[in-house]
Amino acid sequence: MKKTESLAFERILKLRKELEEHNRRYYIDNKPLISDFDYDIMMNELITLEKRYPQFSSEVSPSVVVGSDVHNQNTGSQFVQAAHRYPMLSISNTYDKAELSVFDERVRKILQVNNVNYACELKIDGTAICLTYIQGKLIRAVTRGDGSVGDDVTRNVLKINAIPRVLSGSGFPDEFEVRGEIFMPWKSFDELNLKREENEEELFANPRNAASGSLKLIDSEEIGKRGLKAIFYHVLYDQEMNYTSHCQLLESARAWGLPTSPYVTLCNSIEQVSAFLDFWDVERTSLPYPTDGVVIKVDNLLDQKILGNTSKSPRWATAYKFKPEQALSRVVSVDFQVGRTGAVTPVANLEPVLLSGTTVKRATLHNLDQIKSLDLHINDMVFVEKGGEIIPKITAVDLSRRDSIVFPVVFPQNCPDCGTPLVREESEAKYYCPNQFGCPTQIKAKFLHFCSRKAMDILAGEATINQMFEKGYISFLSDLYKITEEQLLSLQGWKERAADRFLQSVEKSKNAPFSKVLFALGIRFVGETTAKSLSRHFGSIDGIISASREELLQVEDIGEKMADSITAYFREPSNVSLISDLKRLGINFEEKSSGNSKSNKLAGLNIVISGVFSISRDEMKSVIEAHSGKSVSSVTSTTSYLLTGENPGPSKLQKAKQLGVQIISEAELMAIIG
Ligand SMILES: [Zn+2]
Repeated sequence: MKKTESLAFERILKLRKELEEHNRRYYIDNKPLISDFDYDIMMNELITLEKRYPQFSSEVSPSVVVGSDVHNQNTGSQFVQAAHRYPMLSISNTYDKAELSVFDERVRKILQVNNVNYACELKIDGTAICLTYIQGKLIRAVTRGDGSVGDDVTRNVLKINAIPRVLSGSGFPDEFEVRGEIFMPWKSFDELNLKREENEEELFANPRNAASGSLKLIDSEEIGKRGLKAIFYHVLYDQEMNYTSHCQLLESARAWGLPTSPYVTLCNSIEQVSAFLDFWDVERTSLPYPTDGVVIKVDNLLDQKILGNTSKSPRWATAYKFKPEQALSRVVSVDFQVGRTGAVTPVANLEPVLLSGTTVKRATLHNLDQIKSLDLHINDMVFVEKGGEIIPKITAVDLSRRDSIVFPVVFPQNCPDCGTPLVREESEAKYYCPNQFGCPTQIKAKFLHFCSRKAMDILAGEATINQMFEKGYISFLSDLYKITEEQLLSLQGWKERAADRFLQSVEKSKNAPFSKVLFALGIRFVGETTAKSLSRHFGSIDGIISASREELLQVEDIGEKMADSITAYFREPSNVSLISDLKRLGINFEEKSSGNSKSNKLAGLNIVISGVFSISRDEMKSVIEAHSGKSVSSVTSTTSYLLTGENPGPSKLQKAKQLGVQIISEAELMAIIG
């Protein structure tokens, strides 16, 4: 192999590996690390290299294979997979208008015509879905998956109000498939992330990840609350119908009762297409939902058939992608904020600027590395983008506009609050104030969180906590339970009544359910939902303290970052001693199942559960255990029952039938435990 050739081969292998990794993060974890723009640049480089060196082409290259959102077995998929009747291809895309002309020329050449009608549709940044309607009734909803097999998410899609379960119009085919995008409007996205931030849960990077993450929720009740919308853009059927135009077919779909885009426009030349792109590149900022481009489709359905597909994408359609929405503003100053966990985050104060419908005054800079790599100075003009965070991020400095007077950003070496030298953990880009038991901001924030309504519900707001802290009454969380009436009466403005109410709320908090106590401890990334899953799964604090990382990962909703944070928390001796202190003071560290439902009706029975139930799987396990049954993971000859919900796993069903294990439904179980 020649030198250049072997270098190209090396690069191809590296790109494939990286793209596969990004595919996984994007489609399965819903946590992309790089922007779509950067992803597309890498993909384009790979395609170009593979074309130039066809000897290295591969059928399993990410350039050929459609990325898959299907959860694989080891991520514990809760969804049954379903094959697509018609393969669900992805559409080739470009950021370059010149490539659109190439597309147009190729289309006209194959069709042997001078002019083609194109249907132009805004490309909504959501997650693709394929619905099957039979006699006007929604019977199946499947994600794109790898294009031939997707996850059956019917149960969740039925909870989305924007999608009709029964069509209201008439004239639709007896059986048809319709494809579209399920998406989250900006407003719902901001509200969801705000709620998650309050609960200390990981934020969604963008509305698309929020939409696809919601679609894979195990708790279907939650999905209805997330404000998801849908727009459909492609109808497929087998029977004879009189449609010849894609636009006409979409109009009919609207009349049948399906939501379609009001902005579909028929263009009769590529120049008109170009004007449509220019218009929407600006106008899209006023839309209430995220868009990332325009899909251009040959309108004539017969022509679409003639053009056909490649293995990956249709030849009759292409997408033009917009660059991400940005705003330009000046950095006035940089603040350094200490959070509850001690992390120091630089935040830039900006001259106010409008972005995606809101006025932006602050932008996060994440960490020191980012300030360095941006070469950011105070007084610089910067580009701001809306990412997953509540406050937007700075993506670049506009060096062409740099003033002669700029000031370097000086990252503090000591905590801006307590003066302790900051530390940086090897694996993390952030600096921390390690003084977690002495740094006033951290301590006060911890107390505030502990006392909050969703946690221990103790009547102490910011002003009270500040006073108690300054008087030296509280430094460890357990101190809240040691405060005396005398101390309380020494606080400014406190009378007996207030003191009594406070002490009552402290006393009452000892009965708080274990999941609330766990949430109140303020372990990084452990929000309300996670705390509930953990307490259900392990039943007690001792169970969680002794759990290995692998055991933690078995729990519903627990990812690697959370598992690491939990084990790190309990490795810290002072945290363990805090917990034994709290235990001694009478705080509840055990999950108590509701007393009246307890029985021995399932004593001695080994029960395997499979499928989706009216309650979560962990809740179902708790029910079995509350009635003295044992929940086991695989079907063997000693299994008493296979308890099946909707969409049970086929292998478990088969095994149960082979071994003669009795199969029961949720209703039958409820009848047994009465
Ligand atoms: Zn500090």
